[in-house]
Amino acid sequence: MDKILMHVGPVTIKDDVLLAGVKNNVGFTSKEFVDAFSSSLKGLRYITKAKSYQPFIIPGGGTSAMESVTSLLRKGDNVLVVSNGVFGDRWEYILKRYPVNVDVLRPKPGYYVKPDEVKEMTEKKEYKVVTLTHVETSTGVREPVKEVISKVRDNVDLTVVDGVSGMGAEEVNCEDWGIDVYLSASQKALGSTPGAGLLVLSDKAVNSISEDSVAGYYLNLKNWLPVMRSMEEGKASYFATPPVHTILQLSRALAEVEKEGIDNRVRRHQVVSGAIRAGVESMGFSTVAKLPESYSNSVTGVELKKADPKKVMEMSLSEGVEFAPGVHPAFKYFRIGHMGWVTPNDAVVTISVLERVLKELGEDIRLGEGLRAVQEFLDSKQ
Ligand code: PMP
Repeated sequence: MDKILMHVGPVTIKDDVLLAGVKNNVGFTSKEFVDAFSSSLKGLRYITKAKSYQPFIIPGGGTSAMESVTSLLRKGDNVLVVSNGVFGDRWEYILKRYPVNVDVLRPKPGYYVKPDEVKEMTEKKEYKVVTLTHVETSTGVREPVKEVISKVRDNVDLTVVDGVSGMGAEEVNCEDWGIDVYLSASQKALGSTPGAGLLVLSDKAVNSISEDSVAGYYLNLKNWLPVMRSMEEGKASYFATPPVHTILQLSRALAEVEKEGIDNRVRRHQVVSGAIRAGVESMGFSTVAKLPESYSNSVTGVELKKADPKKVMEMSLSEGVEFAPGVHPAFKYFRIGHMGWVTPNDAVVTISVLERVLKELGEDIRLGEGLRAVQEFLDSKQ
């Protein structure tokens, strides 16, 4: 049976995007590759509304993009990490490997750190960088990035946003909101294959990339900057081998995103995620994200009452839908990823499979109730 990946990345990938990477004899200095690189850089500016920003595509993924932010830090700098879960905590694990000082703000699991709490911290101490996670993939919680930044903009040097589960699915406007670094990965809501870390940097952030930063060698943006500038102008350049075929696919995915229009894409994610949540809630389950204003367009954690999450995932897979496991220790749950090329029909299939599986596993389900809520939600959005 063909399956759909309602996962947190990689997600279901369009054939056109996958096939764009099935190419032999593409050298990293070839025109074909340089053109794909150049258009991908431009595409990153488009989807993050960062016209004047410097885009980067580096090997790796979300974590390499996160670690490359050390290129903006000097020994002894203070960093404030706003962490709503496992991936927010990753900033702390990364930064503790470097000679910088890290403070972390955390909410109760399932909630988010409030903008005023971040503001208060930045009034007490001088921070070079504050990091936010747009969508915390472990809980599905969205941080109100725009509001937080509007409150701390004047207190901190640089604002850094992990948009790994945000880019392509959530509204973002780097220029208007005052984001200095927005980063992501190729395998999430852009709907391409894994292998590339993506960033856009404001002028201020680019100017903070210094000779004496704490960054190492491979993920030092100082080494990658000339490559980005040169590639964008159509001239091949080398620092370390880029993931050539991944970038060919990324370029195709970004072209499709532009064709759809970024605002339409965000709206589609809103509709599909809303439909899935309507189904989950009307089956009587609560989401891991506790506050409706923090529900994300890309991930929903579903708390289970009786059923074992592992069993739910196994049985759903045999019915043709693959979900992601829970990774936050505070909850008994699994995650539904709804990002990339998801459609309203995927919401219908997802809830249909879940109704049958959860009933079989002893949860109190009346078949059709979840589906009805999905249908009504979709109908109301037409
Ligand atoms: N940040 C967030 C919010 C993520 O969801 C992930 C991946 N799930 C990462 C960072 C790390 O990305 P990667 O696995 O591509 O290194």
